[in-house]
Amino acid sequence: MAKHESRAAKSARMNLIIDKLQAAYTDAKVGLNFTTPFELLIATILSAQCTDDRVNIVTQSLFVKYRSPQDYLLVPQEELEGDIHSTGFYRNKAKSIRGCCQRLIDEFSCTVPTSLDELITLPGVGRKTANCVLSNCFNIPGITVDTHVTRIMNLLGMVDTTDAVKIEYALMELVPKDRWNDMNHVIITHGRRTCIARRPQCGICPINALCPSAL
Ligand code: SF4
Repeated sequence: MAKHESRAAKSARMNLIIDKLQAAYTDAKVGLNFTTPFELLIATILSAQCTDDRVNIVTQSLFVKYRSPQDYLLVPQEELEGDIHSTGFYRNKAKSIRGCCQRLIDEFSCTVPTSLDELITLPGVGRKTANCVLSNCFNIPGITVDTHVTRIMNLLGMVDTTDAVKIEYALMELVPKDRWNDMNHVIITHGRRTCIARRPQCGICPINALCPSAL
């Protein structure tokens, strides 16, 4: 990798990285369990600062008890806080979920909107959550920048920032739109299985020849 890599070279390397990760992780998919866009919206709000595995444990019973936006507003906030307690930051998350549900009822006829601009008007929903819902529920291209994507894109030398919006826009330039959703899945899977935050497994990494941070 040249020290001052051109954008074209970076883009070619990024596409090769996606190819190799797709071959390595043929089962890559979103880690959160859901059956509807509304469930993924709630699960994604809960996933802030929490593992997908923990969220999946909580939503297993949560999605049985709360089926519609109205359901989340029919109980006192303290009850919802108790139901999502183990995901952490439960007070803020309960407040966001209830605010989000109220807006879905008031402005969107209880359905999850299908545009980024509308989704980010929902309380507790930022670009990461919105893009996650768009890409996984509606197959609309969207780049989800989470902790794995932030770490790995810096290690790969694709970006030099931890600003999620800057990373999203940089990747939009480097990766063709029709690969955005696949990229989300393989990079996040790579972060969970191989390029693990505290102990990256560079020796067995399928993209170590393409990574300037390989040990
Ligand atoms: S070579 Fe190491 S640092 Fe680079 S992507 Fe692979 S595991 Fe991560």
